[in-house]
Parts: sequence; C-alpha cells; structure tokens
Amino acid sequence: MSTRISHWIEGRVVAGTSGRTADVFNPATGAVSGQVDLASTAEVSAAVATAVEAAKQWRSSSLSQRSGVVFAFRQLLHDRSDELARIITAEHGKVHADALGEIARGLENVEFAAGVPQLLKGGFSEQAATGVDVYNIRQPLGVVAGITPFNFPAMVPLWMCANAIACGNAFVLKPSEKDPSAALFLAQLWKEAGLPDGVFTVVHGDKEAVDALLTHPDIAAVSFVGSTPIAQYIYETGTAHGKRVQALGGAKNHALVLPDADLDVAADAIVSAAYGAAGERCMALSVAVAVGDIADPLVEAIAVRLPKLVVGDGAEPGTDMGPLITREHRDKVASYVDSGEAQGASVVVDGRAADVPTDGFFLGTTLLDHVTPDMTCYRDEIFGPVLGVVRVETYEEGLELINSNQFANGTAIFTRDGGAARQFQFDVEVGMVGINVPIPVPVAYYSFGGWKDSLFGDTHMYGPEGINFYTRGKVVTSRWPDPATSSVDLGFPRTR
Ligand code: NAD
Repeated sequence: MSTRISHWIEGRVVAGTSGRTADVFNPATGAVSGQVDLASTAEVSAAVATAVEAAKQWRSSSLSQRSGVVFAFRQLLHDRSDELARIITAEHGKVHADALGEIARGLENVEFAAGVPQLLKGGFSEQAATGVDVYNIRQPLGVVAGITPFNFPAMVPLWMCANAIACGNAFVLKPSEKDPSAALFLAQLWKEAGLPDGVFTVVHGDKEAVDALLTHPDIAAVSFVGSTPIAQYIYETGTAHGKRVQALGGAKNHALVLPDADLDVAADAIVSAAYGAAGERCMALSVAVAVGDIADPLVEAIAVRLPKLVVGDGAEPGTDMGPLITREHRDKVASYVDSGEAQGASVVVDGRAADVPTDGFFLGTTLLDHVTPDMTCYRDEIFGPVLGVVRVETYEEGLELINSNQFANGTAIFTRDGGAARQFQFDVEVGMVGINVPIPVPVAYYSFGGWKDSLFGDTHMYGPEGINFYTRGKVVTSRWPDPATSSVDLGFPRTR
C-alpha cells in the first residue's frame, strides 16, 4: 500500500497542490511505499506566512513556558522512540538499533534546549559609568529554516529545531524527500507537547522548495546539512539574500592507526564506523591510514570481521547492516569499487559479489587495500559500505595526507601513546577529532561542525553555537537620571 506524505502547516497535515510528487521507497524491498508532495514556491510562501504570524506570538512566551514545551516534547520522543525508529528504518533502511541510536543522540539536543532559561542568560554590568548600567540580551530571529539530508531523518532536524524553537523562533523544516515521514512524526509530537500551531512547519519538496526558502524575505536564517556542492550553493544563495547561513557538507573521515595501537580495538572501531548505517553517515570512517608495520595485520583483522556482519532488512532482529538509500546510489557506490580496482587498489573483500538480498538496494561490505590519493575512490565521498586502506610509513606522512584532503569533518587516531595523540589533536586540520573514538560526534553541550569543504559559514551546529546562531544580541545602556541634574552636553559620552 502506498501512502501520501503531505505538508504540516499550522498544526495539521495539508495536502500539496503543486501536482508534483516523488516516490518514497522501502530500500530493503525496493518497493514504493509512498508519494511525497513536492511544494511549489507559492505553497512555501503560504506556509512561511503562517510561521511569521506564529513567531510573533511565540517570541512573547516566557522562558519557562518554552522550556515546559521542550520538556514535554522530550518525554514524548523518549516514550515513542520505538515507533519513530520503525518509521526511519522503513524509509531509510538503517537497522532498528541504529535508528534508536540516532533518536537518542537527537534527544540529547532536546534536553540541552530545555535548559533555555539558563542558556539565554545575559551579562549585566552595574555602574559601567556613574548611574549607568549595561546589559546584553539575546532575542530570536523570527522564522528560521532547516534543510536536512536523508541519512539522519530525525537526528539532524532535532539538532536544529529544538534550539531554534527554545530560543523563541518559528522553525520551517524541509526534510529530505527520500525519507520524509520522520519529520511528520516529530511535528505531531511537538503539537502533543503543547507547541502552538505554526511554530513548527514541514514543507516537503526538492530544489523548488529549497530555492523558495533561500530567497524568501521572511526567512531570517537557514541551517543546512547535506552534500558539499549543495551546501556551498545554499550558503552562497542564502547569504546573497541577506540570511544567516550555516551549511554543513560532505566528508571523507580518516582513521590514523599508529603501529602501537591495540589491533583488536582499532579493527573493531573501524569496522563499526565504516560499515554502520551502510557507510551512510557523515562521520563514517571511510579511510584507514595504516602507519608502518601495522598495515598487514590491520587489513587482516578488518577482513576477518566482515563476513560475520549480517546484511539484510534493518527491521529484522539480528541484522547488522541494511541497504543503501536508492538503487542509483547503490550502483554509484559499486562503481567506486570498479574504479578503485581499475586504478590499482586490491579488493580484499568484494561487496559486489556478496550474498545479499536481491530485491532491495543492498551492497555487501567492501575493503580496498593499497588505495592511493590519486584514485577516484579516495578523492570522492563514496557514502557507502566501502573502506579504503592507505599505507604510509610515518605519522608525518599520515598527517599530511589528512591535512591535504578537501574534506575535514571528523577524524580519529588509534594509539596507546598519549603524547602522539595529543600531538595529533594539535596538528590535525579537522573540526572533530576522536582519540581511540571512531565517531567523535560531540555531545549536545558542545557544537558539531567540520572545517574546509565540510562546512560553509562560521557557526557550528547545535550546542552553544546553535544558541548564538538562532538569536541576535542586543546591548542595552540604561540610566535613570534625577531630572534635577539633567543638562545638555554635546560632548561624546564618556564612562569616567
Ligand atoms: P543532498 O545534498 O543531496 O540533500 C540534502 C538536502 O538538500 C535535501 O533536503 C535535498 O532535498 C536538498 N537538495 C538536494 N539537491 C538540491 C539542489 N540541487 N538544490 C537545492 N536543494 C537540494 O544530501 P543527501 O544525499 O540527502 O545526504 C548525504 C550527504 O549529506 C552526504 O554528503 C553527507 O556527508 C552529508 N551529511 C553531512 C553531515 C554533516 O554534519 N556535515 C551530516 C549528515 C549528512
């Protein structure tokens, strides 16, 4: 049965009127499970207009009211996470436990946002000049938009909307058209939590809807997460239209494995981070940089782990890895294995030949050895279950490789040498670093973001930087003079 997936405007489901839809698939079966409405420019404008009205009211709500709604939302999300995880698995394909993990990390952001009364406290300077006090306040921007990728259909919207709403903004979400249903589930929970209608809006769509948001005069800020070319486009177009923009892009995350690393710890971590969610994570480790003598044993240790992974429908208990998001993406990922092989990499484990279900968009786990920086499979973000091993002789050579890459989202070092790890943390030009931690996604009270082509704009996502992004500062200088002492003075005001 195929479901119609429509917009969420003013607290209810609203059917699209553009006449354009896109198919949504269950990637584990290859079957079409729904049609998502694709909004026209006019539909986006109508949705934004309702958000503008809602924002005017919402910014007047007290901090404790907002915190109360976020608390209630947190509880609902916690209680109904299993239901949401099933929705994610059905449209994305990731295994149920992984979908629960994504929700758990999103929940952290909701919990952080519930502390908004503390987060928005300003500074106060009494007697900055005689009889003069100075203080700062942070106010919401109005209507802000989030444009999100397919690979975390709940977590990435939660990175954005919890803080944006807690800060007093109305939030318009344009989720990925590949797995749009999680966004509607979140919308329903916000309503049940007591959020006024219009403060959380979902418009589904493709480039037309995105462009409508990027150019709309009433959208004050745009948070984007997705691939690098689109991130750059979003940043350039949004800022050209006077908006505040944070646009997080793609990745090629390297694991540097030093010769003294614990082999089993490193192999377990790299396999988990390379093949979890079928490699469709922006923090997936897709390159292992093996330093010196550890290369042969590391390749062997990874290779022996791969046949033990169960590839199949993520909804089935016991599955380790699900399918890729679409048939086209599966074929593109496989083509990187073809090109790697043609350009001289050794295919140690070949996912193209794996015994995987044939109906869905599956590809087996793949391990490429002797990858070099000139190969296409090294240069591009593959975003699939393909791990490449690059062999280097020294720490310096490995560092140089990582620092030369255009992407700089995350990286990890595996070693037992604290001094080497500290040096790496100092030297490496990457936004998020793990020390014996393969996927160093910062906790919600820090902020998430890469460097170079992994982030356009200067603000990282969520945490303290998220609060700053969704508010603007105002400084008030205040005096309550005695009218008897008042006089005209054309000199520039001095503090002494
Ligand atoms: P994508 O760039 O194709 O799509 C992201 C969003 O942009 C979607 O909502 C989509 O509808 C929209 N979009 C797509 N093409 C567009 C166009 N031409 N004009 C305007 N809007 C457009 O990304 P994806 O395939 O959904 O997600 C995977 C990518 O996201 C990977 O590159 C991954 O590394 C990246 N990602 C990065 C992070 C991070 O934090 N840096 C996190 C998750 C995913």
